[in-house]
Amino acid sequence: PRSGFCRSSSIFYSKREPIPLPPSQFLDVTTFISSQAHHGKIAFIDAATGRHLTFSQLWGAVDSVATCLSDMGIRKGHVVLLLSPNSIFFPVVCLSVMSLGAIITTTNPLNTPSEIKKQIADSKPVLAFTTTQLVHKIAGSNFPIVLLDEYVINHTRESKIVSTLDQMMKKEPSQNRVRERVEQEDTATLLYSSGTTGASKGVVTSHRNLIALVSTLIQRFSLDDRDTYICTVPMFHVYGLTAFATGTVAMGSTVVVLSKFEIHNMLSAIEKYRATYIPLVPPILVAMVNGADEIRRRYNLSSMKTVVCGGAPLRREVIDGFVEKYPTVTILQGYGLTESTGVGASTNTVEESRMYGTVGRLSSSMEAKIVDPDTGKTLEVNQTGELWLRGPNIMKGYFNNADATRLTLDLEGWLKTGDLCYIDEDGFIFVVDRLKELIKYKGYQVPPAELEALLLSHPEIVDAAVIPFPDKEVGQYPMAYVVRRPGSNLSGNEVMNFVAGQVSPYKRIRKVAFVDSIPKNASGKILRKDLIKLATAKESKL
Ligand code: AMP
Repeated sequence: PRSGFCRSSSIFYSKREPIPLPPSQFLDVTTFISSQAHHGKIAFIDAATGRHLTFSQLWGAVDSVATCLSDMGIRKGHVVLLLSPNSIFFPVVCLSVMSLGAIITTTNPLNTPSEIKKQIADSKPVLAFTTTQLVHKIAGSNFPIVLLDEYVINHTRESKIVSTLDQMMKKEPSQNRVRERVEQEDTATLLYSSGTTGASKGVVTSHRNLIALVSTLIQRFSLDDRDTYICTVPMFHVYGLTAFATGTVAMGSTVVVLSKFEIHNMLSAIEKYRATYIPLVPPILVAMVNGADEIRRRYNLSSMKTVVCGGAPLRREVIDGFVEKYPTVTILQGYGLTESTGVGASTNTVEESRMYGTVGRLSSSMEAKIVDPDTGKTLEVNQTGELWLRGPNIMKGYFNNADATRLTLDLEGWLKTGDLCYIDEDGFIFVVDRLKELIKYKGYQVPPAELEALLLSHPEIVDAAVIPFPDKEVGQYPMAYVVRRPGSNLSGNEVMNFVAGQVSPYKRIRKVAFVDSIPKNASGKILRKDLIKLATAKESKL
């Protein structure tokens, strides 16, 4: 239907041109991408060192590394852990592993050894790629390790280190290597997300999911190989991984990689490399607006055409501020989840980008429903309920977790996003609130259930609930409501330090309140909305 909304089925259909999907059953995403445009120009360049890979070098490296991996016995279905900050070699590892039908699992380099251990126990990697700086975080693991750094193999005592990526990249590619047939339905990546509830789970993303994602990006960004991207978003997250290990490679764009985000490094890189496209998360946009006058004085940002923002809600006043301070730059929005391969909705044109407040229209070949979370009834245009998504980008399920899969994906293939949204008559989606527990600190996932379990392990805490507390700079931070054991004098600072000692910095609890009991419903579920109301009402009275 032209309106994009079919009243009889209450389904919203994408108004965008459907993406063409290759029909062949046997196709891995690496082969799919390598068949797209690529030239002798630079694919990736390290902003700090200037080290770069041209497209020809990139594909040569992928071939060599895949040969080494195959010689090492890596086969279809094996999981390979990639623990690394952003690097020009991150995509090389992903593309090589996926070309064999093996599975990439990534993790946040800020994570603590015990957080990484949990992911290792769940995903069972047979090999890891990491850096000299991070290798201690997986010390004691029983799989071999390849270092991503160049010259350090002799300087480390870790006995599990079997090679460096540099050595692997020098290997003569062999045409005789074992080539298993990879099906589009085979698993390509296992990224970890807490979804709507509970702890982090492995999101099973297939080659087809990624092929669909690449096709969506090509359609959205109208293949222009003169574009230069700045990569500041983390490559371990679905946003960075899909954009830079697959999307820009297929588009033939040049990517300037910053291994660590720092706003002035990013701005210098934009100036130096005349960058045109900058994918960002909201906190960086906030910093660009707040510091706009000084930034414009210090840097020549005239090359910047488009800023793409996604991963967390963007406040209206930030968009207004950005448009005022950087009037020649188009600001596009994107909405998606790890569970939807980062895709869902986006604004694709200058006209769409002027619909402030929306996350955009449904991505190509996607369908949506708005469902009343209390009654399960499907709602209509302009009515607010939970957004459900269906389409070629939706994950296959959670890894080895049928219960969590059943709660999130229904039998007809609908993904329950856990986001409260409405869709207007022109098909624009508005995210109103988050139904699910998830907290997003600077775009990073913080699962409350994980922090609650930690709090409950404290001998003086009898009950606890963790909620998102709104913050203009970081989006949200975790706040804890704590019930102390009778007679305990435990202080807020002690609670915060107890947690800080055991989690990565972005998961730290930054505010604590003590209560007599945690409000729960009849089945024992924490009434988080009541606590959020309580926390924010108190704040506004101050
Ligand atoms: P992740 O799986 O880490 O990408 O987190 C997905 C969640 O981030 C979504 O379900 C939303 O709650 C939130 N999110 C992502 N993009 C946006 C956006 N553009 N606006 C509002 N929330 C967003």
